Amino acid sequence: MANGPTLPQADSPEARRYNQIRRWLSVGDFAVGLVFLIVLLVMRWSDWLRDLAYHWGAQNYSLSLFIYLVLLLGISRALGIGLDYYGFRLERRFKLSTQRLGAWAWDEIKGFLVGLVLGSIVVELLYFTIRQWPQYWWLLAWALFMGLFVLLAQLAPVVLFPIFYKFEPLENEDLRRRLVMLSEHSGTRVRGVYRWKLSEKSKKANAALTGLGNTRRIILADTLLDNYTTEEIEAVLAHELGHHVHKHILKSIFVQAAITLFGFWAANWTLHYAVDHHLFEELSDFANLPLLALVSVVLSFLLMPALNAYSRFNERQADRYAFETTASVGPFISSMNKLAEQNLAERTPSKWVEWFFHSHPSISRRLAAAEQWGKTQDAHPQA
Ligand SMILES: [Zn+2]
Repeated sequence: MANGPTLPQADSPEARRYNQIRRWLSVGDFAVGLVFLIVLLVMRWSDWLRDLAYHWGAQNYSLSLFIYLVLLLGISRALGIGLDYYGFRLERRFKLSTQRLGAWAWDEIKGFLVGLVLGSIVVELLYFTIRQWPQYWWLLAWALFMGLFVLLAQLAPVVLFPIFYKFEPLENEDLRRRLVMLSEHSGTRVRGVYRWKLSEKSKKANAALTGLGNTRRIILADTLLDNYTTEEIEAVLAHELGHHVHKHILKSIFVQAAITLFGFWAANWTLHYAVDHHLFEELSDFANLPLLALVSVVLSFLLMPALNAYSRFNERQADRYAFETTASVGPFISSMNKLAEQNLAERTPSKWVEWFFHSHPSISRRLAAAEQWGKTQDAHPQA
């Protein structure tokens, strides 16, 4: 079945509709956040929140900054909860979610708290560097931020993910044996493969390479493990191993470092501009936090197509690795078809949608690449 020419399958109206709404949701979410930041600054509400924070924080800088952040994140959550809830209803409506309202609400609370903890660490460090080294704060903040980022990438699989999902080591002997064979082929060792209990929340399937150093691992959703053949799972594993062999996590960290350095430089420039124009009295006035956030949001938005293009490049590399290391492309093709079906993915999104929004090549392109590979293998069989 691997090499038969397959016509590109048209997307169902259901898949089209679902993905369209999802995109509008993310655009809406982005717009709400953007307008919120602009209004805070233009209406001087940020100053008012800062004064309130100082009042409650007994004029202590660090404590007041923390209170200010709680207020800011609290309001922003209140503004965004409607869209979040709509997203939850959407997954239920298209029968992609198995989560109940209570469990969803609990996840929201946990998400908020995790955001608050991480956000507090980041802003306290940020304004500490601004106060201590006003001239070079952005360089120091960048170095600290990257250190934190690497630490978080390492801790995420063991500390962050378990807050939301359960994981257990994969116990399927046949699969483990296949993984060892794949790993030997690549000359590297994967520290572990974990069963990710996604089915508690979703019907969708997923797999990923996560972590750094000794936490580096492949996670496979139980929704995938329980419904795919061993050969199909092997193809998915080979793809994830491809990410590992091509050092995609490490490379992404370097890309992130370069972007973040530019981001901090731009933030410093913007803050100085704002102080020079008497919008804030000094750099360390934390009422300017929405301005810093605005710089980061605008920059992320502008860079999104480029970062997605880079990610799609990595995905193609990982796919190619899977073609090279598995016996035939058949299981890869059937796993892609299953994934598209199960996740209600668009196989053929419009060109600009793929260009702007997608971190993975469209399913139709991935299938075409697999079929192309299969044909060249038939033409030049290798022993
Ligand atoms: Zn991938």
